[in-house]
Amino acid sequence: MIDFRSDTVTQPTQAMRLAMASAEVGDDVYGDDPTVNDLQEMAADMFGFDSALFVSSGTQANLLALMAHCERGDEYICGQQAHNYKFEGGGAAVLGSIQPQPLTNQADGTILLAEIAAAIKPDDVHFARTRLLSLENTIGGKVLPQAYLAQAQTLAFDKGLKIHLDGARVANAAVAQGIKISDITQYFDSVSICLSKGLSAPVGSILLGDERLIAKAVRWRKMLGGGMRQVGILAAAAKLALTEQVERLSEDHANALFLAQGLAEMTAFSVDLQQVQTNIVFATLDKSYDPKRLTQALLKYNIHISAGTTVRFVTHKDISQQDVLHLLKVLTPCLAESRLVK
Ligand SMILES: *Cc1c(COP(=O)(O)O)cnc(C)c1O
Repeated sequence: MIDFRSDTVTQPTQAMRLAMASAEVGDDVYGDDPTVNDLQEMAADMFGFDSALFVSSGTQANLLALMAHCERGDEYICGQQAHNYKFEGGGAAVLGSIQPQPLTNQADGTILLAEIAAAIKPDDVHFARTRLLSLENTIGGKVLPQAYLAQAQTLAFDKGLKIHLDGARVANAAVAQGIKISDITQYFDSVSICLSKGLSAPVGSILLGDERLIAKAVRWRKMLGGGMRQVGILAAAAKLALTEQVERLSEDHANALFLAQGLAEMTAFSVDLQQVQTNIVFATLDKSYDPKRLTQALLKYNIHISAGTTVRFVTHKDISQQDVLHLLKVLTPCLAESRLVK
């Protein structure tokens, strides 16, 4: 099966499976798991933070960050399209009593700084207390400009806000720009990074912050049921995600661009090539085709996509350029099959 639905479907590498099988482990709730401790020290070091925490998922990493920065009745400013606003079950509101203040994302994924400044509430009993600015990079596969991050950091600092990065795919953002991940994370007080997407670990995310923030996050993680025991089994694979899987993301980016260019030549699809900056391609399917039928037709060729009027194709380690070529080739008969009768 060639699976374009997400980079979350990546299989762990053979090296990961071997490292998992022989990982030294201990009870991590006691802080006794050497492999977890190793991973956390390595990540804090690599990304220029005091501390790091290995957690179950990106959703948990974001929630812990929001709950560590904000108290009950506080709010965070984020994009309308932000994962930690739109796709995390409203966890910050449900579990943290933290109010989101979503603002429009521009076409390039940024939020206008003037709109952020205008959304910060004055100290008045009528309002929630604005505590945090949360950005996402990459967002919808797009890379936020480095200069924008610097300006956002300055704005947050001047207004007394903390600044968080949902960096689920920050490794993609770094590789796309030919810079280090720490060149991006340097602008933030906390960062969450998914190891289980393009980086191919089976499970887990990293939360980065100062000692105080991570100590708070450890408490919340325990309360949320995320205190795991011999979790070095997972941390062993997570370490390899950081040491062996970052650079190869450039292949995924090349494959995504190759795919986008191929789709752009088909009348059935329209693609904005400017927006294809990393491993995600959004293509709009012409109304004369049925996305459900297209999905079904492709399954017969062992290709998995998740189609709506917009089709999102994600490239990753388990998709080669050959696989992309195969998709482009079989799309012609599959589109013919999924054409709506007039
Ligand atoms: C996937 C993703 C998350 C959540 O990660 P999970 O491990 O799926 O919980 C958070 N933010 C962004 C931008 C993501 O793409």
